[in-house]
Order: sequence, then C-alpha cells, then structure tokens
Amino acid sequence: MNAPTPDPDCIFCKIVAGEIPATIVHASDDSVAFRDVAPQAPTHVLVIPRSHYENAAALADHEPATLADLFTTARAVAEAEGLAGYRAVFNTGAAAQQTVFHAHLHVIGGRELTWPPG
Ligand code: AMP
Repeated sequence: MNAPTPDPDCIFCKIVAGEIPATIVHASDDSVAFRDVAPQAPTHVLVIPRSHYENAAALADHEPATLADLFTTARAVAEAEGLAGYRAVFNTGAAAQQTVFHAHLHVIGGRELTWPPG
C-alpha cells in the first residue's frame, strides 16, 4: 500500500512537513522525534511516523516496520538523553486521552516514574 497523504488539518503532519516549528531531536526516513510542548517529565519526546495514521493500531496494520522504527528511535532518544529507564506509551482513543489523532509514541523519563499511570 502507498503511504497515505498528509492530513491538512493534522498538526503532526504539519510538523513533519516543517510547516510549524518543533524541537526535533531525531529523524529517520520513516519517523520524526520532537519534544512535547507540554512535557510531563524532564524528558518527554514524541516519536511519530512521517505517514499519517490515526493511531498505533492503524500504523501496525499498514506499516509494521515503521512501528518498529518508532521503538528503535525511542531507545536512541533515551540513550542520547542519558535516561536510566523510560516509559514508551501510545494513548489510543479519546477514552485513553489521545488528543492528537496522528500516531505518536510518548517517550518519558528523567524522573522517578510511578506505576500504574492514571
Ligand atoms: P495524546 O494526548 O497522547 O494525543 O498526546 C498528544 C501530545 O501532543 C500531548 O502531550 C501534547 O502536549 C503534544 N502536543 C500537541 N501539540 C504539540 C506541538 N505543536 N508540539 C509538540 N507537542 C505537541
């Protein structure tokens, strides 16, 4: 399947296209990682596919290799940030507090994390 076209209303597609600013910390052919604008920890980076899929499940269906790239990138980000450990989270669906419907992996660390999350 061909990659989906960018969604003109999607803020993360605009970051991929360079149309709005973001603090990019890592980029590959398939993904981009940038700092969350409202960080929940000293390190809070979002790793996103360049292609627009509304959530991780849709990404897994259509581009499983890109889904793997997001986790490889998460590890690279964690190493670059010197994290002892990190949490990698996909919120999927509004009921799980997903607010941006372009798949994104939260990479959170740099402080003692609690479990379970709220
Ligand atoms: P979620 O609630 O899982 O959909 O996460 C969306 C995340 O995107 C939130 O943590 C927001 O703070 C973050 N966010 C929204 N807009 C931007 C932006 N322009 N640049 C960086 N992070 C953003």
